Amino acid sequence: MSEPQIILMTDLDGTLLDHDTFGYESVKSFMVELIHAGIKIIPNSSKTSVELEYFCKDFDAPLAYVCENGAAIHHLAVVKGQASEAFIDPIVLGKPVSVLMDHWTGCLSAQLRELCVFLDDLSRVDQAQILGLRGEALDRAMSREYSRLFVFKGSEDTFHRIQDEAKKFDLNVVRGGRVSQLSGYHDKADSISIVRQTVSSGPKNALIVALGDGENDINMLCHADIACVIPSKNGEILSFNTNRSFQKIIHASKPAPHGWLEAVEAALELISIESRNCYG
Ligand SMILES: [Mg+2]
Repeated sequence: MSEPQIILMTDLDGTLLDHDTFGYESVKSFMVELIHAGIKIIPNSSKTSVELEYFCKDFDAPLAYVCENGAAIHHLAVVKGQASEAFIDPIVLGKPVSVLMDHWTGCLSAQLRELCVFLDDLSRVDQAQILGLRGEALDRAMSREYSRLFVFKGSEDTFHRIQDEAKKFDLNVVRGGRVSQLSGYHDKADSISIVRQTVSSGPKNALIVALGDGENDINMLCHADIACVIPSKNGEILSFNTNRSFQKIIHASKPAPHGWLEAVEAALELISIESRNCYG
């Protein structure tokens, strides 16, 4: 049996990128080293495809990525090391925005809908303030193909009611770090089985290390082989239950971006110890 293909599937905001500045310069050279060592990094984010293409341009090798909370997987061939085939059509699991909004108005009462203020309906000044972005970065964030962002102005109970109503119509409502998101019924975890299948069609099996900090990362963390939890800047730590008793969980002590590096180093150390036990 050959050694596994290590995949780092990572959330971006608050996990790799600093929550306030979106910076990650201090860990970039470490990421480049990982990529050169053959480790595949797959950003898996609620960001749009345009934002992720822009982010991935920072690296000299193409990266596969998952955009809009699991709506589409781009450049999947990269995980098999076939960079030249990287730019084929994405695998789409999401629904186009027009379909989402037809379902939304059809399934939710006007009373519930009024509590959800979509960012597309706000001024650019308000959008900028809510997302913490300006200019072209704001344009990239707003060019959504499979989801819409909204600010929720109601109680916790009402939010759960909206989630339940939406679910009946195959719509998913999740809370992110800054805003809530309406999309089709998919999440960040759906790409994991597709990535595993893609890798295992080659000579190796995938060993997936997932990294996240928020509620919308929980399912992805639960489906990985090693889950890395990054604390928020105010010290809050995401808690979740996994029924996979064999799953390893690593808690970083620092927030993004340093906690990302700390967690990846701990995960690689764990993999190296286990592989010495298996192969050595
Ligand atoms: Mg996050």
